[in-house]
This record gives sequence, structure tokens and C-alpha cells, in this order.
Amino acid sequence: MKTWEIYAIRHATNETRTRGVNFISDPDPTAPLTLDFFCWVLRSGQDVIIVDTGIDPEKGARNGHEQVMSPPDGWAALGIDPAQVSTVLLTHAHYDHLGYLDALPNARFYMQAEEMSYVTGPWMEKQTFRHAYWPDEIARLVHLLYEGRLHLHGRDHDVADGISAHWVGGHCAGQEVLRIRTDRGWVVLASDALHYYEEYERGIPFAVAFNISDMIAAHDRIRDLADSDDHVLPAHDPRLLDLYPAVSPDLEGRILRLDQAPEAGA
Ligand SMILES: [Zn+2]
Repeated sequence: MKTWEIYAIRHATNETRTRGVNFISDPDPTAPLTLDFFCWVLRSGQDVIIVDTGIDPEKGARNGHEQVMSPPDGWAALGIDPAQVSTVLLTHAHYDHLGYLDALPNARFYMQAEEMSYVTGPWMEKQTFRHAYWPDEIARLVHLLYEGRLHLHGRDHDVADGISAHWVGGHCAGQEVLRIRTDRGWVVLASDALHYYEEYERGIPFAVAFNISDMIAAHDRIRDLADSDDHVLPAHDPRLLDLYPAVSPDLEGRILRLDQAPEAGA
């Protein structure tokens, strides 16, 4: 049975964020709560799948997000030649997940069809829904589509032996989570269906939402797909740094190994 290793590249961070920015009606809105930014690599023997492509540093800087390590440097540190990568999964099209599309010249990209309809449709007339998208990056997706390099799939999609993608919506119209078979069982890489563990633990929504009922329903879907709560991985939580080991001492704080058991209960 094929199992996968999961690597997380901590490519950016924002230490100026507060609980009030991250959560709606938080009782302690001025308390700091760092937002970290991860993108991922799945590896099984020679097979490599990239999940999301990080954040363009200029776009990140406009929102106070500081680059920690560029995703291409992260791929290089993991021994990956971007020209050899054939499969890239895009969990949604927010700009912090879409930054280095052109660094992967031979890849085919995969995304939820609903996300593409959303980012090119009438909801984008509304500032509240379009503010985490950049039109130049969405245009790039349109070009990839016309080049035959973007596949837009339905809600549940088998990616490879041991990896499937599942629509949950909520954070945006086409948000998906990934179910990944590892040596310790089925792990759910929740991407932005969970920014922080706290959303999952307390059943609360993140502040950036397209549909809050779908966002909360996603917690149950994630619970169904994962072997346990210790098999669930959020996308932006600094707590990951305490729970999971760095791949090597020189990559401390930059590349984590997420398929192993967490050091304490998540
Ligand atoms: Zn994100």
C-alpha cells in the first residue's frame, strides 16, 4: 500500500496579527496571534506532488506578511527539481497559495471547478469576497486552463494512490481538503478549511469566509476523513512548529515533517 511523506514549507509569517483579526467576535481581540504560512510537498519514493505554491513576496509584504523562505528554495532543500514536477494541487486560489505558478514549467495543476467559477464570476464584484485574490494570478490560471495545464475537477477527486481531494467550501467557494495515506494512517491536510487548530477544537469560524455554515460543516467532514484529531493539519497555525519536527537542524522553523506523529496532543 502506497504511503506518503508530508513536508510543510513555512514560507512566510505575520507576527502583527491579533485574535480580533483572525476570529469573529473574539473576547480578547487585541491579543497577538501569529499567522504562519505553509505550502506542502507530498513524497512517496520518486513520486512528488506539490500542494499550493506559496505567496508572492511583494503581494505578501503589502499585507505585512514577511517571507521566511521562498517555496522554490524549499523545494530545492528537499532535493526537488521544479522542472521535473508534473502534479501541483491548488487547494484554492487565494494569493497566499498561488505565488510561484511559473516556477513549475512542466506541471499540470489541479483545482476545484467551483473555485474557478467563483473567482471568474459575479461574487468577485464584491470586495469582501475578492480581497484575497489577485487578478493577475487568476488570469494566469485562465492561461493555464487554455494551455491544457489546469484540470478543474469535481468535488471529490482521486489524485493518486493514497491521495484524494474533497470539497468543503466555507473559506471560499472551492476550498478543498486533502486526505493522505501515511505510515501512521489517514491524515487530512485541511489547508485553509482550518487556519488554526482552535477553529476545529472550538467549532468557530475563521474571519475570512464565503459561507460560514459550510466552514463549520467542514469540521465534521475533516473528522470523518481523518483517522483521529491528531491526524488533522491546519494551514496557518504556528502550533505546528511545536508539534512536528524540522526535517533537519539547519531547516529549523522552515521545513517540517508532518506525516509523523505529533509530539503532544493536537
Ligand atoms: Zn491561506
